[in-house]
Amino acid sequence: MSGFVFPLSQPWIAIAGSADRFPVRRVWCVGRNYLGHVRELGNDEREPPLFFSKQPDMLVPGGGAIRYPSLTKNYHYEVELVVALKAGGENIHAADADALIFGHAVGLDMTRRDLQKQMQEKGRPWEIAKSFEQSAPIGALVPASGALPPARIRLMVNGVVKQDADTAQLIWSVPEIIAQLSRQVRLAAGDVIFTGTPEGVGPVVKGDRLEAEIEGLEPLGVTIA
Ligand code: MN
Repeated sequence: MSGFVFPLSQPWIAIAGSADRFPVRRVWCVGRNYLGHVRELGNDEREPPLFFSKQPDMLVPGGGAIRYPSLTKNYHYEVELVVALKAGGENIHAADADALIFGHAVGLDMTRRDLQKQMQEKGRPWEIAKSFEQSAPIGALVPASGALPPARIRLMVNGVVKQDADTAQLIWSVPEIIAQLSRQVRLAAGDVIFTGTPEGVGPVVKGDRLEAEIEGLEPLGVTIA
């Protein structure tokens, strides 16, 4: 056995201050991880963290222009803290999780909200609502030697603030997320986790400009084309 029958590109995320890139293995997302957002969507406040995934090639490193997706009339932004792992494992203890962190970035979990609602009502998987082309714009990773201190997280649409919270308000902290997810799957270097969005999600239309920020990280700008 030698080569492959055709080449495939390696999905990646830029690294702030470096010419090297972070190779992506898997993309995980946490649903319902800020109380305000749980309440605004009318969900149960006491549930354990809910994980879903996007495909690595759905990342849009550096943001920029993304297309309004097919099949939706209610296309939403969700600004999120993203954590990238340099190592992994199974059944990780929360106390050991910080040592696995490569760095952090600002990400957008773009969502077909109308389809998500329809799927939830039918008891079906979220896939069609969350996992589609260009559904995960992501800014440059800022390398870290552990957890990010609590930081303001904000999203602006055309200059108007829509989401404004603090990562200290996460229901499940980053170490707890890593620990919980490592019971479900084996984590490894190259895995990235979108940690959930605060309240204030809403729709965008063609021509809208999104600016996503987390204190201490590289900002992310996206235009809906
Ligand atoms: Mn989300």
